[in-house]
Amino acid sequence: MDHFHYRDGVLHCEDVALPAIAEAVGTPVYVYSAATFRRHAQVFRDGLSGVGAKHLAYAIKANPNLAVLRVLADEGYGADVVSGGEMARALAAGMRPEDIVFSGVGKTRGELGCALDAGLGQFNLELEEEGVVLGSLAADRGMRAPATLRVNPDVDAGTHAKISTGKRENKFGVPIDQAATMFGRLAGVGGLDLRGVAIHIGSQLADLAPLAAAYRRIGALVAELRTAGHAITRVDLGGGLGVPYRSSDVIPSPADYGAMVAEVTRDWDVELMFEPGRVIAGNAGVLLTEVVWVKPGVTDPYVIVDAAMNDLARPALYDAYHDFVAVKPSGERMVANIAGPVCESGDTFAMGRDIDRVVSGDLAVFRTAGAYGATMASTYNSRALVPEVLVDGDRFAVVADRIEPETILAAERVPEWLMPKNLEG
Ligand SMILES: *Cc1c(COP(=O)(O)O)cnc(C)c1O
Repeated sequence: MDHFHYRDGVLHCEDVALPAIAEAVGTPVYVYSAATFRRHAQVFRDGLSGVGAKHLAYAIKANPNLAVLRVLADEGYGADVVSGGEMARALAAGMRPEDIVFSGVGKTRGELGCALDAGLGQFNLELEEEGVVLGSLAADRGMRAPATLRVNPDVDAGTHAKISTGKRENKFGVPIDQAATMFGRLAGVGGLDLRGVAIHIGSQLADLAPLAAAYRRIGALVAELRTAGHAITRVDLGGGLGVPYRSSDVIPSPADYGAMVAEVTRDWDVELMFEPGRVIAGNAGVLLTEVVWVKPGVTDPYVIVDAAMNDLARPALYDAYHDFVAVKPSGERMVANIAGPVCESGDTFAMGRDIDRVVSGDLAVFRTAGAYGATMASTYNSRALVPEVLVDGDRFAVVADRIEPETILAAERVPEWLMPKNLEG
C-alpha cells in the first residue's frame, strides 16, 4: 500500500496535489511519500515478528537520499552500504555505525580503513584475501573487525539476469562448497572477528522458493561450521523481496516472507540480519513528468515525455515495467508508445501500452519509481540531474536539487594547449 491516490480527479502524494510540485520544482522530478516509507519499514518489521534477534539494515543503494535515510533512521533502521560514499550518507543521516553493514565485491583498502575508523558493525567479506587485508588493517588499529563471509549458494533466484547474484557464475560471494574450508582459515586471522555467514541471491524476487532453498543451504553450512568448532552468532539473509510493478503482479508479502524465514531459521540460534531495499522504497516514489509532444507513429503514437532513460534507467537496463498514469485523467484511453527525449531507441518506457489519453502539456507519473530510480540517474545527453521531493502530510520539500547542465559544465576544463589563440590569457 502506498499514499499516492486521486482526490477530486487529481493525483496526490499524501495531502499534496502533484501539480503543485510540478509548479514549484518543474519536471521531471521524483516525488517520495514519507508516510509510505514509514509504513513499509513497519510492515517489513512486523512481518518478521516471528523471528528472534534481528537487525534491519536498509540497503541504501535502492534510494540513498539523505532525507529518506532520516525517515528510516527514525524507524530504527540501520543501513547496508556498498561504498564509502554510501557509508558517509548513512552516518550523515544519523544512523549508528554499529547498525551499518558494509557489503560489496570491490571494497578498496581505503574504504575498509575508513569503515574501521568509523566503527561499522559488520563487514561482509567477498573473498578470502579481503578478510586477510581487513584483519591486518584492524590489527594495525588495535581492533578486531566484526565480519561475516558472504557465500554464493548457487541457486537461481528466478529474476532478471542483471539482478541475479546467487548463481555460481555471478561475481558475488564465495562458492558454498569451499565456504567451510575458507571460513576455517579466516577464523585464524588476527584482527578478524568472524561471526557467521551472509547471502543475497538477487533482487525483485517474486517467489519465496529460491530464497528458502538458499537459506536452507546456509542453515546446513552453519551446522557444518559449528561441528568444526566455530562459534556462529550471526547470519545475514540479505534483501531481494520484490514489489508489484503491475497490479497483476503476485509478490509474496513481508508477512509471507517472515513466516518462511521463521520456519527455516527456527533452530539456528543466531542473530539475523536483513537488508531490504526495494520492498521499502519501490512504491514510495513516483517520477513526475510532463508530456512534451504526442508524435504520430507507424502504428501507435509516441508520447514523448520530459523524463528519459537518464532519469529512470530501469526500463532501458532491465526491460522493467513502470505503470504510467495521468495526473488528471480525463477518463479517455489511448494506445501509445512512451519515450523520452534522449537520442537512443532504448530511451523507451513502453510500447503499445493502453494508457490514459494525454496531450502535450499534461502531467503524468511513472509509478513504483522510489527504488533504483533517482540513484541511477545520469546527465547523459547533457540533461540536468533529476531533483527529488519528499512529501510528508501536507508539507513537501526539495530534498535533492536539480543539478543543471551549467553546473556540470563548470566542472570541465579545456587544457591550455587546446585553447584557441583568441581565448588565451
Ligand atoms: C542490492 C542489495 C540488497 C537489496 O536488494 P533489494 O532487492 O533492493 O532488497 C541487499 N543486500 C545486498 C548485499 C545488496 O547488494
